[in-house]
Amino acid sequence: EVTDVTEVVTQVYDNFKMIHPEFVFILDDDVHQSVQAQIYRNHLEQILIILLDNAVKYSTTRKEVHLSYERDSRNVEIAVQDFGEGISQANRDRVFNRFYRVDKARSRTKGGNGLGLAIAKRLIEGYHGSITIESAVGHGSVFRISLPILSANEAQVLTHKKEQAQAENNEIPGI
Ligand code: ATP
Repeated sequence: EVTDVTEVVTQVYDNFKMIHPEFVFILDDDVHQSVQAQIYRNHLEQILIILLDNAVKYSTTRKEVHLSYERDSRNVEIAVQDFGEGISQANRDRVFNRFYRVDKARSRTKGGNGLGLAIAKRLIEGYHGSITIESAVGHGSVFRISLPILSANEAQVLTHKKEQAQAENNEIPGI
């Protein structure tokens, strides 16, 4: 499926702003145009929701989240930055493991199963993208995802193929 990444980023960002009025959200959009990628729209939404949800969940004093959106000729890059507790070097790989939580005792107060990041990583890598962490304990974290984009031509060919397949599916046999 061909998805407009810019549209999804803006939509998920607007939703978070609405749901968390106590937070300051800043969107740094360097793209300013529609960008197509081959990914299911709901998968991209899910990845962004997991990262934004964590940013909100693990921000303690400074309730601020920055989203930056950039592209080059091949990829889009979306970074979610918080100013929360941060993640130690030793834990930076482990947080992508299923059911891993840095502070187990917190599972009662903050909910969650430790599945979000494992799912986000699986999803993005399934589309030949990547996810990385930069973090400083006590200062916050940046989760960055990168996803290959389609040229206008590639997007057009794929959309056309999909429409054709749908049209064939809708044909009534024998008529
Ligand atoms: P859920 O299954 O609901 O997503 P979760 O938030 O515990 O629960 P993950 O999203 O996989 O699961 O995160 C795993 C762990 O990584 C968290 O428990 C938390 O310790 C740590 N973590 C994730 N995001 C951040 C963040 N932005 N800042 C600090 N720690 C984080």
